[in-house]
Amino acid sequence: MALDLLVLGAGLALLLLLIATLLFGQNPLLARTPLPRLHRLLTQAAPSAAAAAARRLGGRRASSALAVASQLCCERSNPSVQVLFLVLLVGCYTLYFRTVFPMLPLPGLPAWHKYTGTASALLCLAFFLAAGFADPGTITPATAAAHAALYPPDGLWYPEKDCRTCGLPRPARSKHCRVCGRCIARIDHHCIWINRCVGLMNMRYFLGFLLSTTAVCLYGLILGAQAIWRDMALQGTWHTAFQLPDSGRLVYLSDSRRFTLRYIIAVYGPQAAATFFVGCCAFILLGFTSFQLTLLLSGLTTVELHRRKEVQLELGEAAARQAEEEEAAWLMARVDAALAGSRAACTPTDGPGSADARDTASSASATVGGQAPPCGGQRRQVKQRLAPPFDRGAWRNLSEVLFPHYHLRQAAAAAAREGGGGKKWA
Ligand SMILES: [Zn+2]
Ligand SMILES: [Zn+2]
Repeated sequence: MALDLLVLGAGLALLLLLIATLLFGQNPLLARTPLPRLHRLLTQAAPSAAAAAARRLGGRRASSALAVASQLCCERSNPSVQVLFLVLLVGCYTLYFRTVFPMLPLPGLPAWHKYTGTASALLCLAFFLAAGFADPGTITPATAAAHAALYPPDGLWYPEKDCRTCGLPRPARSKHCRVCGRCIARIDHHCIWINRCVGLMNMRYFLGFLLSTTAVCLYGLILGAQAIWRDMALQGTWHTAFQLPDSGRLVYLSDSRRFTLRYIIAVYGPQAAATFFVGCCAFILLGFTSFQLTLLLSGLTTVELHRRKEVQLELGEAAARQAEEEEAAWLMARVDAALAGSRAACTPTDGPGSADARDTASSASATVGGQAPPCGGQRRQVKQRLAPPFDRGAWRNLSEVLFPHYHLRQAAAAAAREGGGGKKWA
Protein backbone atom coordinates (compact mmCIF):
# COMPACT_ATOMS: atom_id res chain seq x y z
CA MET A 1 0.00 0.00 0.00
CA ALA A 2 2.76 2.43 1.01
CA LEU A 3 4.74 1.56 -2.15
CA ASP A 4 1.65 2.10 -4.33
CA LEU A 5 1.14 5.53 -2.81
CA LEU A 6 4.81 6.37 -3.25
CA VAL A 7 4.64 5.45 -6.94
CA LEU A 8 1.39 7.40 -7.31
CA GLY A 9 2.94 10.46 -5.60
CA ALA A 10 6.06 10.31 -7.79
CA GLY A 11 3.88 9.98 -10.92
CA LEU A 12 1.76 12.98 -9.88
CA ALA A 13 4.87 15.06 -9.13
CA LEU A 14 6.36 14.23 -12.55
CA LEU A 15 3.10 15.08 -14.30
CA LEU A 16 2.92 18.43 -12.48
CA LEU A 17 6.52 19.21 -13.41
CA LEU A 18 5.74 18.39 -17.04
CA ILE A 19 2.68 20.68 -16.99
CA ALA A 20 4.66 23.53 -15.36
CA THR A 21 7.52 23.12 -17.87
CA LEU A 22 5.14 23.17 -20.85
CA LEU A 23 3.30 26.21 -19.47
CA PHE A 24 6.21 28.34 -18.28
CA GLY A 25 9.33 26.90 -19.97
CA GLN A 26 9.62 29.70 -22.54
CA ASN A 27 8.50 32.55 -20.33
CA PRO A 28 11.24 35.25 -20.41
CA LEU A 29 10.30 36.34 -16.87
CA LEU A 30 11.45 32.92 -15.58
CA ALA A 31 14.74 32.93 -17.49
CA ARG A 32 16.74 32.56 -14.25
CA THR A 33 14.85 29.49 -13.01
CA PRO A 34 15.57 25.87 -14.01
CA LEU A 35 12.33 25.74 -16.08
CA PRO A 36 13.84 27.02 -19.40
CA ARG A 37 16.62 24.44 -19.06
CA LEU A 38 14.07 21.71 -18.45
CA HIS A 39 12.04 22.94 -21.42
CA ARG A 40 15.12 22.76 -23.68
CA LEU A 41 15.92 19.32 -22.31
CA LEU A 42 12.41 18.15 -23.08
CA THR A 43 11.98 19.75 -26.49
CA GLN A 44 15.52 19.74 -27.92
CA ALA A 45 17.99 17.52 -26.07
CA ALA A 46 15.63 14.57 -25.53
CA PRO A 47 14.50 14.36 -29.20
CA SER A 48 18.16 14.66 -30.37
CA ALA A 49 19.24 11.90 -27.98
CA ALA A 50 16.34 9.72 -29.13
CA ALA A 51 17.30 10.32 -32.78
CA ALA A 52 20.95 9.37 -32.05
CA ALA A 53 19.84 6.22 -30.20
CA ALA A 54 17.50 5.26 -33.05
CA ARG A 55 20.31 5.77 -35.59
CA ARG A 56 22.65 3.59 -33.57
CA LEU A 57 20.13 0.85 -32.83
CA GLY A 58 17.94 0.76 -35.92
CA GLY A 59 19.99 2.39 -38.67
CA ARG A 60 18.93 5.11 -41.07
CA ARG A 61 15.38 3.83 -41.52
CA ALA A 62 14.58 4.01 -37.78
CA SER A 63 16.17 7.45 -37.56
CA SER A 64 14.10 8.86 -40.45
CA ALA A 65 10.91 7.26 -39.03
CA LEU A 66 11.61 9.01 -35.72
CA ALA A 67 12.26 12.32 -37.52
CA VAL A 68 8.89 12.04 -39.30
CA ALA A 69 7.17 11.17 -35.99
CA SER A 70 8.85 14.12 -34.24
CA GLN A 71 7.85 16.51 -37.04
CA LEU A 72 4.24 15.27 -36.90
CA CYS A 73 4.22 15.57 -33.13
CA CYS A 74 6.00 18.93 -32.59
CA GLU A 75 5.73 20.95 -35.80
CA ARG A 76 2.32 19.93 -37.10
CA SER A 77 -1.03 20.51 -35.53
CA ASN A 78 -1.94 17.43 -33.50
CA PRO A 79 -4.39 16.79 -30.69
CA SER A 80 -2.18 14.72 -28.32
CA VAL A 81 -1.96 17.38 -25.57
CA GLN A 82 -5.66 18.21 -26.05
CA VAL A 83 -6.42 14.55 -25.40
CA LEU A 84 -4.12 14.64 -22.33
CA PHE A 85 -6.13 17.58 -20.94
CA LEU A 86 -9.42 15.75 -21.53
CA VAL A 87 -8.04 12.62 -19.85
CA LEU A 88 -6.95 14.69 -16.82
CA LEU A 89 -10.29 16.53 -16.63
CA VAL A 90 -12.43 13.42 -17.02
CA GLY A 91 -10.09 11.40 -14.77
CA CYS A 92 -10.24 13.94 -11.92
CA TYR A 93 -14.00 14.36 -12.27
CA THR A 94 -14.51 10.57 -12.21
CA LEU A 95 -12.33 10.30 -9.10
CA TYR A 96 -14.38 12.99 -7.36
CA PHE A 97 -17.64 11.44 -8.59
CA ARG A 98 -16.73 8.01 -7.22
CA THR A 99 -14.93 8.92 -4.01
CA VAL A 100 -15.71 12.48 -2.79
CA PHE A 101 -19.34 12.96 -3.90
CA PRO A 102 -20.56 9.76 -2.12
CA MET A 103 -19.26 11.25 1.19
CA LEU A 104 -21.74 14.16 0.86
CA PRO A 105 -23.71 15.48 2.64
CA LEU A 106 -21.53 16.08 5.67
CA PRO A 107 -22.12 18.58 8.52
CA GLY A 108 -21.39 22.00 6.97
CA LEU A 109 -20.91 20.51 3.49
CA PRO A 110 -24.29 20.13 1.72
CA ALA A 111 -25.08 17.65 -1.06
CA TRP A 112 -25.57 20.37 -3.70
CA HIS A 113 -21.77 20.53 -4.09
CA LYS A 114 -22.20 17.44 -6.32
CA TYR A 115 -24.21 19.56 -8.78
CA THR A 116 -22.11 22.74 -8.58
CA GLY A 117 -18.96 20.60 -8.93
CA THR A 118 -20.38 18.93 -12.05
CA ALA A 119 -21.55 22.28 -13.47
CA SER A 120 -18.12 23.91 -12.97
CA ALA A 121 -16.36 20.97 -14.66
CA LEU A 122 -18.80 21.28 -17.60
CA LEU A 123 -18.17 25.04 -17.82
CA CYS A 124 -14.45 24.38 -17.96
CA LEU A 125 -15.03 21.83 -20.76
CA ALA A 126 -17.23 24.30 -22.69
CA PHE A 127 -14.53 27.04 -22.60
CA PHE A 128 -11.87 24.47 -23.56
CA LEU A 129 -13.90 23.43 -26.63
CA ALA A 130 -14.75 27.05 -27.56
CA ALA A 131 -11.08 28.13 -27.34
CA GLY A 132 -9.97 25.09 -29.33
CA PHE A 133 -12.54 25.30 -32.12
CA ALA A 134 -13.13 29.06 -32.58
CA ASP A 135 -11.13 30.85 -35.27
CA PRO A 136 -8.22 32.65 -33.52
CA GLY A 137 -8.34 35.53 -36.05
CA THR A 138 -6.95 34.26 -39.35
CA ILE A 139 -5.75 37.04 -41.65
CA THR A 140 -7.48 36.69 -45.03
CA PRO A 141 -7.77 39.12 -47.98
CA ALA A 142 -11.21 40.02 -46.60
CA THR A 143 -10.11 40.69 -42.99
CA ALA A 144 -6.57 42.13 -43.42
CA ALA A 145 -7.76 45.75 -43.83
CA ALA A 146 -9.93 45.72 -40.70
CA HIS A 147 -7.16 44.16 -38.59
CA ALA A 148 -4.65 46.70 -39.94
CA ALA A 149 -7.05 49.53 -39.12
CA LEU A 150 -7.22 48.32 -35.51
CA TYR A 151 -3.46 47.69 -35.29
CA PRO A 152 -1.57 49.73 -37.93
CA PRO A 153 2.21 49.13 -38.36
CA ASP A 154 4.25 51.47 -36.16
CA GLY A 155 7.57 51.23 -38.00
CA LEU A 156 9.60 49.95 -35.03
CA TRP A 157 7.92 47.04 -33.30
CA TYR A 158 5.94 46.31 -36.44
CA PRO A 159 7.34 47.57 -39.74
CA GLU A 160 5.00 47.51 -42.73
CA LYS A 161 5.55 44.17 -44.50
CA ASP A 162 3.90 41.20 -46.19
CA CYS A 163 3.84 37.59 -45.04
CA ARG A 164 6.14 35.61 -47.31
CA THR A 165 4.03 32.45 -46.93
CA CYS A 166 0.51 33.84 -47.18
CA GLY A 167 1.45 36.71 -49.54
CA LEU A 168 -0.83 39.07 -47.59
CA PRO A 169 0.01 42.37 -45.91
CA ARG A 170 0.75 41.69 -42.26
CA PRO A 171 -1.12 43.93 -39.77
CA ALA A 172 0.76 44.92 -36.62
CA ARG A 173 0.58 42.34 -33.78
CA SER A 174 -0.07 39.52 -36.29
CA LYS A 175 2.37 36.70 -36.98
CA HIS A 176 2.56 33.67 -39.21
CA CYS A 177 2.21 30.51 -37.12
CA ARG A 178 4.28 27.65 -38.50
CA VAL A 179 2.11 25.01 -36.83
CA CYS A 180 -1.26 26.44 -37.91
CA GLY A 181 0.15 27.52 -41.30
CA ARG A 182 -1.52 30.96 -41.34
CA CYS A 183 -1.20 34.52 -40.10
CA ILE A 184 -3.07 35.21 -36.86
CA ALA A 185 -4.25 38.66 -35.72
CA ARG A 186 -2.99 39.86 -32.32
CA ILE A 187 -1.34 36.53 -31.78
CA ASP A 188 -0.48 35.74 -28.18
CA HIS A 189 1.08 32.30 -28.58
CA HIS A 190 0.43 28.88 -30.09
CA CYS A 191 -1.12 26.85 -27.28
CA ILE A 192 -0.54 23.10 -27.36
CA TRP A 193 -3.31 22.55 -24.79
CA ILE A 194 -5.98 23.79 -27.21
CA ASN A 195 -3.96 22.77 -30.31
CA ARG A 196 -4.45 26.22 -31.82
CA CYS A 197 -3.14 29.75 -31.70
CA VAL A 198 -4.47 32.17 -29.13
CA GLY A 199 -5.31 35.29 -31.12
CA LEU A 200 -7.63 38.30 -31.14
CA MET A 201 -10.81 36.32 -31.85
CA ASN A 202 -10.44 33.43 -29.36
CA MET A 203 -8.53 35.19 -26.55
CA ARG A 204 -11.81 35.67 -24.61
CA TYR A 205 -12.53 31.93 -24.71
CA PHE A 206 -8.95 31.17 -23.74
CA LEU A 207 -9.24 33.53 -20.76
CA GLY A 208 -12.54 31.85 -19.83
CA PHE A 209 -10.81 28.48 -20.11
CA LEU A 210 -7.94 29.60 -17.85
CA LEU A 211 -10.19 31.25 -15.27
CA SER A 212 -12.69 28.36 -15.17
CA THR A 213 -9.93 25.71 -14.94
CA THR A 214 -8.21 27.65 -12.13
CA ALA A 215 -11.55 28.08 -10.33
CA VAL A 216 -12.53 24.40 -10.73
CA CYS A 217 -9.14 23.29 -9.39
CA LEU A 218 -9.43 25.62 -6.37
CA TYR A 219 -12.98 24.39 -5.81
CA GLY A 220 -11.79 20.77 -6.00
CA LEU A 221 -8.99 21.50 -3.52
CA ILE A 222 -11.34 23.09 -0.97
CA LEU A 223 -14.11 20.50 -1.46
CA GLY A 224 -11.77 17.49 -1.20
CA ALA A 225 -9.93 18.84 1.86
CA GLN A 226 -13.18 19.82 3.60
CA ALA A 227 -14.80 16.43 2.84
CA ILE A 228 -11.86 14.51 4.37
CA TRP A 229 -11.61 16.84 7.39
CA ARG A 230 -15.35 16.86 8.15
CA ASP A 231 -15.70 13.10 7.63
CA MET A 232 -12.89 12.53 10.13
CA ALA A 233 -14.67 14.84 12.57
CA LEU A 234 -17.95 12.97 12.03
CA GLN A 235 -16.29 9.62 12.65
CA GLY A 236 -14.73 11.02 15.86
CA THR A 237 -11.28 10.15 14.54
CA TRP A 238 -9.65 13.13 16.26
CA HIS A 239 -10.64 11.79 19.69
CA THR A 240 -9.76 8.16 19.10
CA ALA A 241 -6.50 6.73 20.43
CA PHE A 242 -4.54 4.48 18.06
CA GLN A 243 -2.03 1.90 19.12
CA LEU A 244 1.22 2.09 17.13
CA PRO A 245 2.03 -1.39 15.74
CA ASP A 246 5.81 -1.17 16.35
CA SER A 247 5.99 0.31 19.85
CA GLY A 248 2.47 -0.39 21.13
CA ARG A 249 2.24 3.27 22.22
CA LEU A 250 -1.19 4.96 22.20
CA VAL A 251 -1.46 8.20 20.17
CA TYR A 252 -4.20 10.60 19.21
CA LEU A 253 -4.29 11.92 15.62
CA SER A 254 -4.31 15.48 16.91
CA ASP A 255 -0.96 14.75 18.67
CA SER A 256 1.06 13.90 15.56
CA ARG A 257 0.94 15.51 12.12
CA ARG A 258 2.95 12.66 10.67
CA PHE A 259 0.52 10.08 11.98
CA THR A 260 -2.45 12.19 10.75
CA LEU A 261 -0.94 12.23 7.24
CA ARG A 262 -0.34 8.48 7.31
CA TYR A 263 -3.90 7.91 8.49
CA ILE A 264 -5.37 10.13 5.72
CA ILE A 265 -3.28 8.35 3.05
CA ALA A 266 -4.34 4.94 4.36
CA VAL A 267 -8.07 5.67 4.80
CA TYR A 268 -8.74 8.41 2.22
CA GLY A 269 -6.03 7.54 -0.37
CA PRO A 270 -7.93 8.25 -3.65
CA GLN A 271 -9.63 11.38 -2.26
CA ALA A 272 -6.30 12.68 -0.92
CA ALA A 273 -4.50 11.98 -4.24
CA ALA A 274 -7.23 13.78 -6.25
CA THR A 275 -7.23 16.73 -3.83
CA PHE A 276 -3.43 16.98 -3.87
CA PHE A 277 -3.31 16.87 -7.68
CA VAL A 278 -6.01 19.51 -8.29
CA GLY A 279 -4.45 21.66 -5.53
CA CYS A 280 -1.04 21.66 -7.26
CA CYS A 281 -2.73 22.35 -10.62
CA ALA A 282 -4.62 25.24 -8.99
CA PHE A 283 -1.37 26.92 -7.87
CA ILE A 284 0.34 26.41 -11.26
CA LEU A 285 -2.75 27.76 -13.03
CA LEU A 286 -3.05 30.69 -10.64
CA GLY A 287 0.46 31.74 -11.66
CA PHE A 288 -0.18 31.31 -15.38
CA THR A 289 -3.60 33.01 -15.32
CA SER A 290 -2.24 36.00 -13.37
CA PHE A 291 0.63 36.27 -15.84
CA GLN A 292 -1.76 36.25 -18.83
CA LEU A 293 -4.09 38.81 -17.22
CA THR A 294 -1.21 41.13 -16.31
CA LEU A 295 0.11 40.97 -19.87
CA LEU A 296 -3.34 41.62 -21.31
CA LEU A 297 -4.05 44.62 -19.08
CA SER A 298 -0.58 46.06 -19.83
CA GLY A 299 -1.27 45.94 -23.58
CA LEU A 300 1.28 43.22 -24.30
CA THR A 301 1.08 39.75 -25.82
CA THR A 302 3.46 36.86 -25.07
CA VAL A 303 4.97 37.34 -28.55
CA GLU A 304 5.54 41.04 -27.77
CA LEU A 305 7.19 40.17 -24.47
CA HIS A 306 9.84 38.29 -26.49
CA ARG A 307 9.90 40.99 -29.21
CA ARG A 308 10.56 43.62 -26.55
CA LYS A 309 14.05 42.22 -25.98
CA GLU A 310 14.82 42.44 -29.71
CA VAL A 311 13.51 46.03 -29.89
CA GLN A 312 15.57 46.89 -26.80
CA LEU A 313 18.65 45.46 -28.46
CA GLU A 314 17.98 47.29 -31.75
CA LEU A 315 17.31 50.59 -29.97
CA GLY A 316 20.32 50.09 -27.70
CA GLU A 317 22.62 49.54 -30.67
CA ALA A 318 21.18 52.54 -32.54
CA ALA A 319 21.52 54.74 -29.43
CA ALA A 320 25.10 53.55 -28.86
CA ARG A 321 25.99 54.36 -32.48
CA GLN A 322 24.41 57.81 -32.20
CA ALA A 323 26.23 58.49 -28.90
CA GLU A 324 29.58 57.48 -30.46
CA GLU A 325 29.02 59.80 -33.42
CA GLU A 326 28.05 62.71 -31.16
CA GLU A 327 31.05 62.13 -28.89
CA ALA A 328 33.43 62.07 -31.88
CA ALA A 329 31.95 65.35 -33.18
CA TRP A 330 32.28 66.91 -29.72
CA LEU A 331 35.93 65.82 -29.42
CA MET A 332 36.73 67.20 -32.90
CA ALA A 333 35.20 70.53 -31.91
CA ARG A 334 37.39 70.61 -28.77
CA VAL A 335 40.52 69.81 -30.83
CA ASP A 336 39.62 72.59 -33.30
CA ALA A 337 39.12 75.01 -30.43
CA ALA A 338 42.45 74.05 -28.83
CA LEU A 339 44.28 74.45 -32.15
CA ALA A 340 42.73 77.88 -32.68
CA GLY A 341 43.88 78.85 -29.16
CA SER A 342 47.47 77.70 -29.71
CA ARG A 343 47.66 79.54 -33.07
CA ALA A 344 46.60 82.74 -31.30
CA ALA A 345 49.22 82.23 -28.54
CA CYS A 346 52.00 81.79 -31.14
CA THR A 347 51.24 85.15 -32.88
CA PRO A 348 54.48 87.26 -32.39
CA THR A 349 52.89 90.72 -32.13
CA ASP A 350 49.97 91.97 -30.06
CA GLY A 351 48.04 93.32 -33.03
CA PRO A 352 44.28 93.59 -33.31
CA GLY A 353 44.17 90.42 -35.42
CA SER A 354 45.73 88.36 -32.65
CA ALA A 355 43.26 89.66 -30.06
CA ASP A 356 40.43 88.63 -32.36
CA ALA A 357 41.97 85.19 -32.75
CA ARG A 358 42.27 84.79 -28.97
CA ASP A 359 38.65 85.92 -28.59
CA THR A 360 37.53 83.41 -31.22
CA ALA A 361 39.54 80.64 -29.58
CA SER A 362 38.25 81.36 -26.11
CA SER A 363 34.66 81.66 -27.29
CA ALA A 364 34.95 78.39 -29.28
CA SER A 365 36.49 76.73 -26.26
CA ALA A 366 33.76 78.09 -24.00
CA THR A 367 31.03 76.97 -26.39
CA VAL A 368 32.34 73.44 -26.57
CA GLY A 369 33.61 73.39 -23.00
CA GLY A 370 30.29 74.75 -21.72
CA GLN A 371 28.47 71.78 -23.20
CA ALA A 372 28.23 68.55 -21.28
CA PRO A 373 29.65 65.58 -23.19
CA PRO A 374 26.86 63.91 -25.18
CA CYS A 375 25.97 60.93 -23.10
CA GLY A 376 22.27 61.09 -22.05
CA GLY A 377 19.01 61.93 -23.69
CA GLN A 378 18.91 58.75 -25.74
CA ARG A 379 18.19 56.69 -22.67
CA ARG A 380 14.86 58.45 -22.09
CA GLN A 381 14.04 58.15 -25.79
CA VAL A 382 14.78 54.42 -25.73
CA LYS A 383 12.54 53.97 -22.69
CA GLN A 384 9.69 55.83 -24.39
CA ARG A 385 9.97 53.75 -27.53
CA LEU A 386 10.13 50.51 -25.54
CA ALA A 387 6.62 51.13 -24.17
CA PRO A 388 4.11 48.67 -25.66
CA PRO A 389 2.92 50.36 -28.89
CA PHE A 390 -0.71 49.23 -28.49
CA ASP A 391 -1.22 49.81 -24.78
CA ARG A 392 -4.47 51.81 -24.85
CA GLY A 393 -5.26 51.56 -21.15
CA ALA A 394 -6.29 48.50 -19.10
CA TRP A 395 -10.05 48.72 -19.82
CA ARG A 396 -9.60 49.30 -23.54
CA ASN A 397 -7.02 46.46 -23.75
CA LEU A 398 -9.50 44.13 -22.05
CA SER A 399 -12.42 45.37 -24.13
CA GLU A 400 -10.54 44.71 -27.41
CA VAL A 401 -10.25 40.99 -26.64
CA LEU A 402 -13.75 40.68 -25.11
CA PHE A 403 -15.51 42.45 -28.00
CA PRO A 404 -13.16 42.09 -30.99
CA HIS A 405 -15.92 42.37 -33.63
CA TYR A 406 -17.07 45.73 -32.26
CA HIS A 407 -13.54 47.19 -32.17
CA LEU A 408 -12.72 45.89 -35.66
CA ARG A 409 -15.89 47.53 -37.06
CA GLN A 410 -15.12 50.81 -35.28
CA ALA A 411 -11.49 50.84 -36.48
CA ALA A 412 -12.49 50.02 -40.09
CA ALA A 413 -15.15 52.78 -40.06
CA ALA A 414 -12.65 55.31 -38.66
CA ALA A 415 -10.07 54.33 -41.32
CA ALA A 416 -12.71 54.71 -44.06
CA ARG A 417 -13.64 58.19 -42.76
CA GLU A 418 -9.98 59.23 -42.82
CA GLY A 419 -9.69 58.22 -46.47
CA GLY A 420 -8.70 54.58 -46.38
CA GLY A 421 -5.57 54.80 -44.21
CA GLY A 422 -2.27 53.47 -45.59
CA LYS A 423 -1.84 52.63 -49.25
CA LYS A 424 -1.57 48.90 -48.67
CA TRP A 425 -4.35 48.53 -46.16
CA ALA A 426 -7.20 50.28 -48.00
ZN1 LIG B 1 1.24 34.16 -43.10
ZN1 LIG C 1 -0.71 28.33 -34.27
